[in-house]
Amino acid sequence: MRGRAIEHVTTVVIGAGHAGLAASHFLRERSIDHLVIERGEVANSWRRERWDSFRLLTPNWQSRLPGLRYEGPEPDGYMTTKEVTQFIERFAAFSRAPVRTGTNVTSVRRTGDGYHVTTSRGEIRCRAVVIASGACNRPAVPPFGDAVPPSVEQLTPFDYRAPDRLPDGGVLVVGASATGVQLAAELRGSGRPVTLSVGEHVRLPRTYRGRDVLWWMDASGVWDQRYDEVDDLARARRLPSPQLVGTPERGTLDLNALTSMGVELVGRWAAVRDGRALFSGGLRNVFSLADLKMERLLGTFDEWARTRGRDAEVGPPERFAPTRVPESARLRLDLRSGEIRTIVWATGFRPDYGWLDVPVVDEKGRLRHHGGAVDSPGLYALGLPVLRRRRSTFIHGIEDDAREVIGHLARHLAGRR
Ligand SMILES: Cc1cc2nc3c(=O)[nH]c(=O)nc-3n(C[C@H](O)[C@H](O)[C@H](O)COP(=O)(O)OP(=O)(O)OC[C@H]3O[C@@H](n4cnc5c(N)ncnc54)[C@H](O)[C@@H]3O)c2cc1C
Repeated sequence: MRGRAIEHVTTVVIGAGHAGLAASHFLRERSIDHLVIERGEVANSWRRERWDSFRLLTPNWQSRLPGLRYEGPEPDGYMTTKEVTQFIERFAAFSRAPVRTGTNVTSVRRTGDGYHVTTSRGEIRCRAVVIASGACNRPAVPPFGDAVPPSVEQLTPFDYRAPDRLPDGGVLVVGASATGVQLAAELRGSGRPVTLSVGEHVRLPRTYRGRDVLWWMDASGVWDQRYDEVDDLARARRLPSPQLVGTPERGTLDLNALTSMGVELVGRWAAVRDGRALFSGGLRNVFSLADLKMERLLGTFDEWARTRGRDAEVGPPERFAPTRVPESARLRLDLRSGEIRTIVWATGFRPDYGWLDVPVVDEKGRLRHHGGAVDSPGLYALGLPVLRRRRSTFIHGIEDDAREVIGHLARHLAGRR
C-alpha cells in the first residue's frame, strides 16, 4: 500500500446493508459523489449472521426501500434470508450504488476539513462520512459466560445454524426477545429439552383483530413516533425486539405458546457460582409487566380504530390470556450435571466501532448522535435503534431517515463551501 495515492471523494458511506445503500440512493439524488465501502458483500449481515430457518418478522408488504417495494404474490408472508439478500441486492443494482466490496474500514479520523478513512485497500480523504455499519455487529454475551463449565458448549445467534448441529441433550436459551423465542421454539420442536431464561421482554400477538400486529403499529402511527417525541429516548433505544416470528401460519410465539410446547421457563440469569447458573425470581412480576404493556398497546390500537372510524374494517377487539407463571420456577441449575449440553446466548447485539478514531462513542459503546447527526461535524449515522423514529432499524424505516440525514449532510457540505 506504501506509495499509493490517497483517493479523494466527497462522502464515504461505511456498510452496504440496506441503510448504507439507502444513503447512497439519496446522495446520488443530490449529485453528491460518494463511495460505499463494504468489508464483505452487499447485504453481508444477512448472508453471514443468520441461522438457516431465519425469516423476517416484518411482513413482505413492509419490505420497502426508496423506489423499490415487494411486489410478489404473498404480501402477508415473511422473507427468508435468501429473499432478503436478493431484495437488498436488487436495491443496490436499481440505485446503482458505487459499492466497493471486500474492503474493510480499519480507521476513520478527523482531519482539518473532513475525515481520513483507512481501508484494507487504501486511504481515502472525504468531507463527510455516513456510518451505516449496522447496530448488530456482535452478539452481546454477559461476562459470567466465562464462568460456565467447559463441558457446556456456548453459541451465539451468529454461530447457531440448526438444531442438528448441536451436541445431543438439553439446551439453555438465554433471552426471550425475538431471537430467543424463535430459537427456543425451533430447538424444542426438534425434540430437545429446552430451558428459556426470561428477563424483560416485549409480548405481542402475531395478529390482532385479523391484521398483522405490525400493520397496527404502522397504521396507528406508533412506529412513526419521532425520536424527539419519545418520553424516554435512552430506554426506547434499548428496548428488546418483540416476541414475534414470521411463519407461513402467522402464529403467535409468546411465552404461553412456548410453555405449551414444553419449554421450561426460568428467570433472568444473574450469575454463575460453583458451576451453577443462578436465576432471578419474580417471574410473576416480569410477566405481568409485559402483559400490561401489551394490553396498553392494544388499547392504543382500539382507540385509534374507534376515533378514525376504522372499526368496521377490522375484527372485534381481542384480549389475550395472561402469561402463565410456572408453579415453581427453578432458581438454580447445575451446569456440571450434564442436563444442559449447550447454551445459546440470545442476549442481544452490539455495534462495533473499534475502527472509529473519533471520540463520539460513549462508555457503553454507543454512538453519540442527535437524529443521526453524530457529535462531530460531517459525521452521520443510519440504521440505529430509534435513530429518528421508532421504526428506524427496520427495513421500512430507512427511507425517511436516510432522506433526512442526507439532507442534513448536504446542508453541512453547502455551508462549508
Ligand atoms: C436477528 C435479527 C433479525 C432482524 N429482523 C428484522 C426484520 O424482521 N425486519 C426488519 O426490517 N429488520 C430486521 N432486523 C433489523 C435490521 O434490518 C438489520 O439489523 C439490518 O441488518 C440493519 O441494516 P443496516 O444496513 O443498518 O446494517 P447491516 O445490514 O448490518 O449492514 C452493515 C454492513 O456494514 C458492513 N460493515 C460493518 N463494519 C464495517 C467496516 N469496518 N468496514 C466495512 N464494512 C463494514 C457489514 O459487513 C454490513 O454489510 C433484524 C436484525 C437482526 C440482528
